[in-house]
Amino acid sequence: MKIYFEAEKFLKHPEGNLQSKIFNDKSLKSNPKHIYALVYSTLQYKEYINQIITKSKINRQIKISDELLALLVHDLLFSSRGRIESGKHHIKDSFLKNKTRLQAELIKLKLKYKVKSVDQLPTIQQEDETPVRWFRINTIKIDPERFFKKHKLNLQPVNRFQDLTKPGLIYQDEHIPNLYGVHPKEKITTSTEAYKLGEIIIQDRGSCFPAFILNYKEPHSKIIDACAAPGNKTSHAATFVDEVVYAVERDSKRAAILKTMSEKATGKSRKKLIQVLNQDFTTIKPEDYEDVTGLIVDPSCSGSGIFGRAMDEETKNSDRLEKLASFQFSIMKHALSFNGARKVVYSTCSIHAEENERVVIDLLSDEEVKKQGWTLANRDLVLPNWERRGLEVEFEKISRDPNVIKELAGGCVRTLPKEDGGIGFFAACFVRE
Ligand code: SAM
Repeated sequence: MKIYFEAEKFLKHPEGNLQSKIFNDKSLKSNPKHIYALVYSTLQYKEYINQIITKSKINRQIKISDELLALLVHDLLFSSRGRIESGKHHIKDSFLKNKTRLQAELIKLKLKYKVKSVDQLPTIQQEDETPVRWFRINTIKIDPERFFKKHKLNLQPVNRFQDLTKPGLIYQDEHIPNLYGVHPKEKITTSTEAYKLGEIIIQDRGSCFPAFILNYKEPHSKIIDACAAPGNKTSHAATFVDEVVYAVERDSKRAAILKTMSEKATGKSRKKLIQVLNQDFTTIKPEDYEDVTGLIVDPSCSGSGIFGRAMDEETKNSDRLEKLASFQFSIMKHALSFNGARKVVYSTCSIHAEENERVVIDLLSDEEVKKQGWTLANRDLVLPNWERRGLEVEFEKISRDPNVIKELAGGCVRTLPKEDGGIGFFAACFVRE
């Protein structure tokens, strides 16, 4: 019963960031991953669990807290295992005496909502859940028209992602070609055939910005993706180039994942489109890649734009942000030293200015970078119709001219977590003649 006793307090006080509360609680004896999964799923089904508790009147039979009872009902009726995770315990014994009654109430509930299994019940959206499931049709493997016919996806189009209120609907993104949004409960997931065949890539909208911005108007023949694993931006970039994307990844385990993902995305016949290099990007010699004209730089960051991490105290730790920013600056500086490069897109999935606009400002103020001729691109080249740009207040630090400030902020794009339909993201585009 330990896991239930430990999960109970998080269910009692679910406010704030559940994930960080559980993972930062050093007093827990059970695996935090298991506790998180249990509390998260119980919260999702809470409304139904409460109905079953009320109807079965089990709360009058057994004297335990409402939260503990909800957790037990969850595991018996709403988990895939369908059992209580505990050795012999008197609470478990008295709870299971009501098993038949609880199961009968579940059958009535399924009839009421006209579903065959509990996972078809509409669930309450949790803080950590994406409001939209975005997927990109991988045009290296299949074109969108054939894709929809082949998989017999008969989904009703909607004009805005905010209208994806239930499964059965689809939104075609107006900014990124071949990108679609569906309800998170839609059966387009990593277990579908299309995903296994590499025909679709599940990729958040913001994460599709860099490869698109890099190749906007003038696609490149050779690109370097400097921090590539697991390879979402790499495989997206590969849809634009006609020769090769060099996908650089320092970590060997992640490089192996990158290789598998890349092979799936290109298939055997076009496998030369992506070349994985298990190397530290800063050790790659620019003179060996004179014909590379574009780079994507998506270095490790605090991840504060990702749900569940947005309010994480740890991501706001200023020492950590400073270290990350200086690492991000050094990776970018190396990218800007490639002689043949005329466009470099910098991105993070962070919402903190320290890792975003301030890194951009430090680069623009760097003497060597200035000498190399780099500037921020004009808004016309950087998703011009996307409304949310870089933070102007940050650029006030390097100019007093409102036009210059607006122009610099225009060379960057931001997405807000949830509000813009996905994770929080930042991208800036550096160009030179
Ligand atoms: N761009 C990836 C995507 O869209 O799937 C996500 C990249 S992730 C934010 C950052 C990656 O950069 C990590 O896999 C990390 O191991 C790698 N990395 C960090 N420092 C690096 C370096 N100096 N050289 C190459 N890769 C590096």
